[in-house]
Amino acid sequence: MHRIVLLGPPGAGKGTQGTLLSERWGVPHVASGEILRRALADDKDTELARTAQTIKQGNFIPDAVANALVFRELDRPEAAGGFVLDGYPRDVAQAEALEDYLRQKAWTLDAVVALLIEEQALVARLMGRLTCPRCGESYHVRSAPPLKEGVCDKCGAALVVRDDDQPERVRTRLALYHQKTEPLIAFYRERGLLRTVDGSGAEDTVFAAVRDAVEPDAPERDTVPGGGHSETLV
Ligand SMILES: [Zn+2]
Repeated sequence: MHRIVLLGPPGAGKGTQGTLLSERWGVPHVASGEILRRALADDKDTELARTAQTIKQGNFIPDAVANALVFRELDRPEAAGGFVLDGYPRDVAQAEALEDYLRQKAWTLDAVVALLIEEQALVARLMGRLTCPRCGESYHVRSAPPLKEGVCDKCGAALVVRDDDQPERVRTRLALYHQKTEPLIAFYRERGLLRTVDGSGAEDTVFAAVRDAVEPDAPERDTVPGGGHSETLV
């Protein structure tokens, strides 16, 4: 069974690692930001969509709304075999609500993976991010620049800095993380669930460390691309 929570500041790579884990295990990647965007886009006049529409920029999601959105995802049959939670819980109150929910289901978390990265590196990652408003491709002014400055390689549209990536918003998001979410590291450490992983390296390096953290007993069998055989990585 794979029931995992990913913790870490914005820009630490939770989304990427969550997607990789969910593909590896065949379980849903329950990303709270994505769920909220879907609820907002949902034109059905549901209670959740109505509540969600009152929230500006997804910054201060009331606990009751966040809990309801996530639990609805976990109630789906696809999540019966496990899940990867990303962006939830965001504070201790949500973590306690999640504990109650899991207890009712007679489920337990297997691990909470905290992706840790130095503040300076985070700010550098977040500040230089560019997004294509037409096709959604993302770039970075230093680490992954487009071929032609300010223009999407894939579709030719002019790149933009998302509202979330504006310097003011980056500072607000990081301050919120420190104040609200960081206490969860101690919360889960007390419960013996915490695994910390260095999130500063390349995606595949970080993913190898994440797998080591959550699959300590499992032999690692990765198909070598083009090789047609398996190799054990320990
Ligand atoms: Zn594009």
